[in-house]
Amino acid sequence: MKNYVSTRNPEVKATPAQAVLKGLAPDGGLFVPDDLDSIKVNMQAMMNMSYREMARVVFGLFFPDLGDKTLASILEKSYENKFDVPELAPLVPVSDSYVLELFHGPTCAFKDVALSALPNLMTASARHENFQKRILILVATSGDTGSAALTGFSNVEGTDALVFYPETGISQSQRLQMVTQPASNVRACAVKGNFDDAQRGVKEIFQEVEEPAEGVSLSSANSINIGRLVPQIVYYFNAYKSLLDRKAIKLGQEVSYIVPTGNFGDIFAGWLARAMGLPVGRLICASNENDVLTEFLNTGRYNKKRDFMRTTSPSMDILVSSNLERLLYFVCGPEKTARYMEELRTKGEYQLEEDDLLEIQGVFGCASVNSNESAEVINRVFRENNYLMDPHTAVAWGAMEKLVASGELKKDEAKVVLSTASPYKFSRSMLEALGQTGGESDHENMKKLQDYTGVKAPEALSSLFEKEVIHKDVIEAGQMKEYVIEAAEAGRRIRNGQ
Ligand SMILES: *Cc1c(COP(=O)(O)O)cnc(C)c1O
Repeated sequence: MKNYVSTRNPEVKATPAQAVLKGLAPDGGLFVPDDLDSIKVNMQAMMNMSYREMARVVFGLFFPDLGDKTLASILEKSYENKFDVPELAPLVPVSDSYVLELFHGPTCAFKDVALSALPNLMTASARHENFQKRILILVATSGDTGSAALTGFSNVEGTDALVFYPETGISQSQRLQMVTQPASNVRACAVKGNFDDAQRGVKEIFQEVEEPAEGVSLSSANSINIGRLVPQIVYYFNAYKSLLDRKAIKLGQEVSYIVPTGNFGDIFAGWLARAMGLPVGRLICASNENDVLTEFLNTGRYNKKRDFMRTTSPSMDILVSSNLERLLYFVCGPEKTARYMEELRTKGEYQLEEDDLLEIQGVFGCASVNSNESAEVINRVFRENNYLMDPHTAVAWGAMEKLVASGELKKDEAKVVLSTASPYKFSRSMLEALGQTGGESDHENMKKLQDYTGVKAPEALSSLFEKEVIHKDVIEAGQMKEYVIEAAEAGRRIRNGQ
């Protein structure tokens, strides 16, 4: 692979470093590799590697221009001493399946895996392109990306990060993780609206604003940035290796992955792993009540004209799953993808052709699990298996159970459920799922959950409540553009000592 191309027009090209720096393609499309055949790996060799070595192979295939030495140093900086377990993403047997715990990073959600690496990828890309401007990272978050991005970019030279989060709907702990960030180059701002409003605002700013202040360039840390997806490919391979090490499978045997899905980033990383040669059986897209993707994968109709539901798995409360566009590109080609995205924007829906749908259904399965069902799963799995899973993970677990019941997944095949957050990010919902009462204060809820379950809260979360609230701004979604320009100007003045 040499270049990235836009999902809407293969004539719009970028080198890997440029794709990471830009985030979104200039025509509004997303960057995808121009050639999937050249990203194949040797499975046998991969299975003898450590997590870091695997990451080096994967990064090397997607960012060949940065060079092996630079990539090695990026990986060292990104993962050394940042996760609270040496294996980064442990695979834990639960009942007759496996849970892939992706929440051992600094903000206790799987987004840390990518956002620990992205700032280093970005600064290396800037050096490689001899890019002189300061980079302002804009993020729209449904809860977890925000804190992971603010943490990842804290004090990273040459960058600032600005996160927009929905004023209501995220948990108290999630909010505190953002508004207490002390580094002077990062800030968080609440938006009156939901995640889709914030995401739409950010996308518009990317299309309308070239330079928010002199010498400042915008980039994205959302999963529309290819630099977010690539680090996530690695743990699909590593989970497979863990199954081999446990002798749960033989090399070549297919494994199904069940993924709690919002923006379709995590599961698309799984699709890329499959394209690279990982023996993936089914990729199961698990949704909550916001089951746009379940409808899409069943019928080929993507319809965002529906009520936005607030659920106990807020990081999946999304109606427009951006990364689906990348899958459409590979299945339908750029012309149809561009047309569907235009229809989605103007009519709020599009309908896939039958053949394309069948191709997608050949790999992807789906199920939706509502908040009551997810609570029941949390309760039952804790009682029967003494394993505490967060509400997002429980949606995936519940989806797996539904598909085993329907026969789409086999009871005795190897199945990996991706666990995307620590239960302690959602203490109140956890307590309620366990039949206890949760209160207004997440601090109290956290202690109560700890006492009740005997599972220790991660230090990163239990220490939140002593921290000072620094970021207090709340704005209307319509004011986001203005806010970004003001923030960029203010930053420029400070740097120039004016
Ligand atoms: C972001 C997030 C998801 C959804 O991941 P996508 O890549 O957006 O599909 C699921 N669970 C948690 C806890 C998350 O933070």
